[in-house]
Parts: sequence; C-alpha cells; structure tokens
Amino acid sequence: MGDNFISSPVDNLGKPAPDSPEVRRYNRIRRRLGIADFLLGMALLVVLLATGWTARLRDLAYLGAGQIYVLAVFFYVFMLTVLNKIVGLGLDYYAFRVEHQFNLSNLKLRSWAKDQVKGWLVGLVIGSILVELVYWTIRTTPRFWWLIAWAIFVVLFVFFAQVAPVVLFPLFYKFKPLENEGLKERLTRLSERAGTRVKGVYEWKLSEKSRKANAALAGLGVTRRIILADTLLEKYTDDEIEAILAHELGHHVHRHIPKSILVEAGITFFGFWAANQILHYAIERLHLFEQLSDFADLPLLMLVSAVLSLLLMPALNAYSRFNERQADRYSYTAIPSIAPFVSGMNKLADQNLAERQPSRVVELLFHSHPPIAKRIQAAEAWARGQESGIGSQSPA
Ligand SMILES: [Zn+2]
Repeated sequence: MGDNFISSPVDNLGKPAPDSPEVRRYNRIRRRLGIADFLLGMALLVVLLATGWTARLRDLAYLGAGQIYVLAVFFYVFMLTVLNKIVGLGLDYYAFRVEHQFNLSNLKLRSWAKDQVKGWLVGLVIGSILVELVYWTIRTTPRFWWLIAWAIFVVLFVFFAQVAPVVLFPLFYKFKPLENEGLKERLTRLSERAGTRVKGVYEWKLSEKSRKANAALAGLGVTRRIILADTLLEKYTDDEIEAILAHELGHHVHRHIPKSILVEAGITFFGFWAANQILHYAIERLHLFEQLSDFADLPLLMLVSAVLSLLLMPALNAYSRFNERQADRYSYTAIPSIAPFVSGMNKLADQNLAERQPSRVVELLFHSHPPIAKRIQAAEAWARGQESGIGSQSPA
C-alpha cells in the first residue's frame, strides 16, 4: 500500500516528515479494530432485542435466581457480559497479535488471558452495581427514576475517579512511588511555582506488558497523582521527563479531571432523560416490554447510551484536544526551553508508532490528543512569539 519510504530525509525544514507506511498501517488497523469492536457490541444488543432472546435470557435469569428479582438482575448482567466477551474475543485476540506484529508489546499470551478474565470480572462487578442501581430506582420511583439514577451515577463518577488509581489500576499494573530524587525535586519546584500540590508521583511498571511509553494525571483529592511509565523513565532525559511532568501538572492546574466529570454529568443527564423517553415509547407504543422494571429492556438502555456516546464522540474528542493544548501550553511556559518538549514529543511518537500527521477527518473523529506535528508546531510558534516579544504569555 505505502510507497514513500524514501521521502522523509529530503523534507523541507520546518515541515515534519510524513508518517511512514508502517505507522499509517498500524494506526489504520487500530482504528478499524476500534470501530469493529464498537459495531459488534451494538450488533449483539440489536440481535438480543430484535429476536426476543433478551426475554429468554431474563426468564433463564429468573429461573436461576429462584424468582428473586435482585439476584435475577445479577444473573442477567452476568450472562450479558459473558456473551459480550465471547462475541468480542476474536477481535481482542487480534488486537493482542497486532501489538506483537508491530513490536510494541511485551505481553505473554498467558498474561493476556489473565488480563482478559480480570477485565471481564471488573466489568461484571461495576456493571452489576450500576444496573442494580438503575432497576432499584425504577422500582422505587418509577416516575423520576432517571433523575435519581442520574444523581447516583454522578456520585459514583466522583467515587470511581477517586478510587481508580488505588483500586482499579493496580489490578492490571504495578506502581511504586518515584525514586528519582532529581525528578521529584523538579516536580516540587514546578508545583510550587504553580501554587499547587500534587500528592505523589508514581512509577508505572508498563514495561511488563508494553514497549510504548505514557504518562497521566489520575485520581481526585487525596488520590490525585502523576504516573510515569517506566518505559519513559528509562529512555528519556530528565529535561524531557520534566516537560512531560509539566504537561500533566497543566492538567492539574487547569482542573481538567473535575471539569471532565462535570461534562460527563451533563451528558449523562441528557442520556437518562432520553433513555426514559425511549423506554416508555418501547413499552407503550411498541409493546416490546410490559413495564419499565422488566430488565429484559436493558439492551435498549445500553443501546441508547452507545448511540449517544457515538454521536458525541467528535465533540468530546474536540473538548479533550482543547484540554491537551492547554496542558501543552502550560508545559512549555513552565520549563526553561521548548527543546525538551519537542524532543520528548518526537520520542513518544517514534516509540508508540503514533501518527504525527493523521488526516483532518481522522483527527476530528478519533483523536483525543492533537497530532504530534501540531503540538510541536504550536510550541515552536509560541517560542517564536516569545523571542519577538509579542509572546502570548497567558495560557487561555
Ligand atoms: Zn495530556
């Protein structure tokens, strides 16, 4: 497919080299995998509803639960997550193989299988809690269930954001406090200048599973922390790591996690309202179900949420890219020179096989981060502005 292996060395100054055919192929496969995975999940829900199998699953759940409603809901969720896993397993395995094909993975088949089981279990636990809560509100307050369920979900968002770094992440990866004193000192200095404090910096043992590098800000309140992959700590200079730390600190300073929870709360409000309308329509007009509390209508509820998130994905990605640009600007205003920011970005792109210049359409639909070429260009433009004295000092 690709045909321009040779074009990169002769590129003009200031214009980033085009992505190699290998990089483009890897990202194309990943995108298609993501789309296929989503469509398969939707297809399962549609099939369950269209064939009426969801009612059979419900009857089976009641049978296993000895007619106890709460237990039957759990069995139903259990069967649904098993079905979902079976349907998606082929693609999951293919994704695992792709990472190896492109030399990006250290994950052994056994650990992959273990992670799959763990992921399914976590999904089952969280899914059961959410679904039980939804049907509990439906039974106790049928008129305003969607409003009350929404309020409970918002509380849970905050709760999960708080416990994720201390409960969920460690199920899949090992973490330990960062030991590099020099880096810790740099972070303290950066934080002091920002007039803020991050509770901790943790080393994330990503290398056991992946050859990619990454960093993140996670948690809320006391669990708020910056995590840095060991794959990053190994191969990047202290200046480059400082630039990445400063980017994560930018997310903290601009309060991106609480803001994202707020956005999510707004979307979920609309989602629950829409779900209520659609469920009533399905019951009163289409006579698909006898009543709201019939949990055979769960696939319809999930379908509403899937369609809504699909429709909102471009907007949410745009919002995320806005936040990333903000964190980037924070980063290069906080460090002495943009050089380590630029070289760090380039290293990340190389190591992770990231597309530096995806097409505009791909960026708008799929990317939660601005393309690396644009991030570098923005840093360089900012630095030029600083030199000529017309600098845009204030990060918007
Ligand atoms: Zn970021």
